[in-house]
Amino acid sequence: MSQVQPFDKAAYNERVQNGPCFICQLVKNQPEESHSEIYRDEVGIVFLSKYPSQYGYTLVAPIKHRERVTADFSPEEYLALQSLIYRVGEALQKVITTERFYILSLGSQQGNRHVHWHLVPLPPGVPYEEQQLEALKIDKGFLALGNSEAEVLVEKVRQYLL
Ligand SMILES: [Zn+2]
Repeated sequence: MSQVQPFDKAAYNERVQNGPCFICQLVKNQPEESHSEIYRDEVGIVFLSKYPSQYGYTLVAPIKHRERVTADFSPEEYLALQSLIYRVGEALQKVITTERFYILSLGSQQGNRHVHWHLVPLPPGVPYEEQQLEALKIDKGFLALGNSEAEVLVEKVRQYLL
């Protein structure tokens, strides 16, 4: 079963600000930490967040190291990536019951520069004041999935990822 685990923000910040690009490492199959990859093609790579605030929190990133959310893409490249995000969003919502489904790109030039999109299922019944940006926070800990729980989720999402 998934458990809430404390989040070591200082260690995380050190890694993402001073370490190599973890998404490029993932693309090269050389991650420092294991990740639950759902899918990849020539356009993008899809994997479960390592530190999810919500069950099924998924990240989608371009295969190539791009930083600026629109300016580093041609319109065609951008739309191809958005098409993948749409497909992943649909697949996740077939597996996980949601009240709302969030899609957003945040990021910083000071850490995790490889642009990526957050796909976050919000379960039904979360109080209004705990929704939206509050639902993304992991100050009180993140939802650690066991390996088998993550594998089951990945397999289910893959089944619907057409
Ligand atoms: Zn990168």
